[in-house]
Amino acid sequence: MTGKITKRIQELSETLPSQVRLIAVTKTVSEEAIREAYAAGIRDFGENKIQEALTKQKALQDLKDIRWHFIGHLQTNKAKLALTHFDWIHTCDRVKLASRLDRLLGDLEITSPKILLQVKPLSDPNKYGWTIPELLDALPTLEQYHHLSIQGLMTILPFGQSAAETQTGFEKVRDLAQQIQSQNHHFSMKELSMGMSGDYPLAIEAGATMIRLGQTIFGKRPQ
Ligand SMILES: *Cc1c(COP(=O)(O)O)cnc(C)c1O
Repeated sequence: MTGKITKRIQELSETLPSQVRLIAVTKTVSEEAIREAYAAGIRDFGENKIQEALTKQKALQDLKDIRWHFIGHLQTNKAKLALTHFDWIHTCDRVKLASRLDRLLGDLEITSPKILLQVKPLSDPNKYGWTIPELLDALPTLEQYHHLSIQGLMTILPFGQSAAETQTGFEKVRDLAQQIQSQNHHFSMKELSMGMSGDYPLAIEAGATMIRLGQTIFGKRPQ
């Protein structure tokens, strides 16, 4: 019998464009449900809390080709754990964190996970992320962090936007990536991590290369 999670993943894979990487967001999701998603073909998994992620990684260590994505707010004192336990960090959101990550990478002599810079393109009560002018100002500083493997931008749009605002938000992030790319920095701006269960079709239309879906795959999350 095919489970619900398998069905949802099959439906998604039939509709998503092939260049879009589907990240299954597994915060609060059981090990059993994660294994079902893996069996259905998912290899990219996203977690937003370091401790919860480490517990799951341990329980799932037999699944060797999983790529783990850190998508939560990263406290500076957890930076080292994030570097050593994740393949991607989507939420580099301030110079102080970037500087810490860069220094740790140098000290530990390990290869950098792929790093995304978190931006907030709309006026937004969320604390985390660079505004567009702030990120443009920070670029010369970020340019000096040679250990960081910066690959693109990530955004979480504020809740309850109209479709038009949502579309504008995603397009601003895409345009910002193109603007930065054209300035010949040493980092890449190819990846755009944007779109969650509530807004991913618009994100894909605007050029997302990664979408982060929790509830669409695993069902409604308990509060
Ligand atoms: C929880 C979360 C998601 C997934 O949200 P859904 O509404 O379950 O799709 C995506 N991105 C981030 C950063 C999250 O914290």
